[in-house]
Parts: sequence; structure tokens; C-alpha cells
Amino acid sequence: MSTSIPTTQTAVQINSHGGPEVVEINTSAPVPTPSPTELLIKNEFAGINYIDTYFRSGLYPVPKFPYTLGREAEGTIVSVGAEVKDFKVGDRIAYLAADTQAEYTVAAPLHATHIPESLAPGLAAASMIQGLTALTLVRESYEVKKGDYILVHAAAGGVGLWLCQILRIIGAHTIATASTTEKLELAKENGAEHLINYSSEDWVAQTLKITEGKGVAAVFDGVGKSTFEGDLQVLARKGSLVSFGNASGAVPPFAIARLSAKNLKVLRPQLFGYIATREEFDTYTQEIFGWIKEGKVDVRIHKVYPLRDVRKAQEDIESRKTTGKLILKI
Ligand code: NDP
Repeated sequence: MSTSIPTTQTAVQINSHGGPEVVEINTSAPVPTPSPTELLIKNEFAGINYIDTYFRSGLYPVPKFPYTLGREAEGTIVSVGAEVKDFKVGDRIAYLAADTQAEYTVAAPLHATHIPESLAPGLAAASMIQGLTALTLVRESYEVKKGDYILVHAAAGGVGLWLCQILRIIGAHTIATASTTEKLELAKENGAEHLINYSSEDWVAQTLKITEGKGVAAVFDGVGKSTFEGDLQVLARKGSLVSFGNASGAVPPFAIARLSAKNLKVLRPQLFGYIATREEFDTYTQEIFGWIKEGKVDVRIHKVYPLRDVRKAQEDIESRKTTGKLILKI
């Protein structure tokens, strides 16, 4: 069953690795055809994520050029494969898939979910990757307990604000780092108790002072290269270093024997390893949508960019000017 679908579409693509200048708008990209087990979605909003910049720069490889950017979106199903259950043409869904910064995307039902009616347009697309990442990190990478001291780097970023709010729900003591006073104030409004400007202060010394020398139970670090060494210093005995991103560059190799001094754990998780089954995806998605509906989590939208301004959106997220989520209106 399908509605009228064009054969070509507008999509955000790269044809080589490089700076923001390699990001192009292709107005004659082919519209993909879903297999019997897939959905075709007409997108309304797509998320911008830091990972878009890794694919663009070449830090992460891409399967082939041209490569369409985007990993999450919301929209309306326009075609369903014959073997698909639970979804039909006309359903409004949010989903995770490749190639989402485009008018049409093919996706597997595994990572698709119906959007609750009470969610404002754009909010579901804005919540999928960053909300699910933050939630799975605090449940699975290190299971945060009430009263734990936890360090969150880049706490006013997309994932960072989710982490602050979820840690508040759990009842942890959050120590937040960010590069400006304004960003730290935002982290505080979202639940952080202790604030450190890691651009101007000695954040290692400050963290140890706040925890009276004991250190933190876990560090959630999406910054990577510039903070990794300090993370090892601020962790308590048996602490967990959850390194989940590379905003400042990839963490260089390190000697594993260094962990023995405090029996530390180092993890390098990625979201999809925690939502590999339908049950995992549903459980975590319903939890984040529930918090949004109950007003326990406020999804801060930094800006809604028109699709043609996608290059600007990437420049903005890389230049550390943004807080919360950037989304594209398709
Ligand atoms: P953010 O909105 O957090 O933006 C990145 C932030 O990193 C900046 O705002 C900046 O905050 C900080 N930063 C520190 N050093 C640098 C630097 N040298 N250049 C640029 N930024 C820097 O992005 P996201 O929320 O999209 O992603 C956050 C992290 O989470 C990324 O590393 C991303 O790759 C990772 N991630 C990992 C996932 C996984 O599955 N493992 C899934 C989703 C995201 P400040 O100015 O305060 O320093």
C-alpha cells in the first residue's frame, strides 16, 4: 500500500571528506524503495548530531560516496513492505536509520516508534539519539545510583543536558563541566549541582575538592581527547570512565595497566549496542517519551534550521556555540 511518491528528492550529501564546505544539498537524489520488511517515511524533521561531523571529516568512515547524512528523524509513513507488522501508511513515527537528512528515508521497523500525540512537532526527532544515548549510558554503561557523584563533560550540549536531567531524576550529584558561564548556568537549571568551567579552571583539582578527595563514581565523557587523562585522575576507586564521543578528537591508545591503580573500568559504548532488540528499544523510548510528557525532562531545542542551512548547523555545533539540540526542518 502506498501514496504518490516521487522518484527524486532533496537530500543532504557529501561526496568527499573535509570541512563544512563538502556538505551539499542534492535536489535530484533518488528516492529509495523499501524492501518487504521496511518502511518508507516522508520526513518532517531530522536531527543534527555531532556524529554528522565525524562522517563529514572522515574521523568515521562512510560506506560510499555520495553519502547522505542523518541518523534520526520523524515523519509520516508513505509506504510499508508487505511483511511489516505494527505500522501502516499514515502513521506518524520517530525512528533511527541512516540517510535521514532527506525528504524520504527507508527504515527498518526495529528502530521506529509511534509519536505520542502530546509531543510537539520536532520533539520526537530531537529526542531519539541524544535522549536514548543519555539514558542507556546511565543504566547500562555505569548504572548510576542515588547519591553517586557523577562528572558530566560538555554538560550543556545535546547529550549533556539529557544526562543532567536524568541524573537529577535518579538523585545523583552531578558535577558539570562546560566552556562558558552561560552554558554552566544552563546545566544548573537542568539539574547539575556543581559547576566547573573547564576552559578556565583546573577541573581535575575542582572535582577532587568537591568530592573531598574521594573522586567520582563515573565520568560521562563525550569530549574525548582533551579530557581523557584528567578523567583517570578524578575517578574514585572502582570508578567507571564512560568515553562515548570525540568532540575534541579521538582518545589516543593508552596502557591498560594504568587502570590497576584504582581498579578502574573504561568503556567505549555506542547507542546501538544497547538497543539491539525491539524490547530494549521500546523500553528506553517509552521511558524518555514518558518523562517528556510528564514534564520531568525539557528537551531544549537550540535552533530549527531549514534544510538548506545544514552546513551552518554543522559549523555551529563544531564551533561550540550551541546548547541542547539542533534540528532540521525538512
Ligand atoms: P554537543 O551538543 O554536546 O556538542 C559538543 C560539545 O562538546 C560542544 O558544545 C562543546 O561544549 C564540547 N567540546 C569540547 N571540546 C570541544 C572541541 N574541541 N570542539 C568542539 N566541541 C567541543 O553534541 P552532541 O550532544 O551531539 O554529542 C555529544 C557527544 O556525544 C559527541 O562526542 C558525540 O559524538 C557523542 N555521542 C555518542 C553516541 C554514542 O552512541 N556513543 C551517541 C550520540 C552522541 P563546551 O563548549 O561546553 O566544551
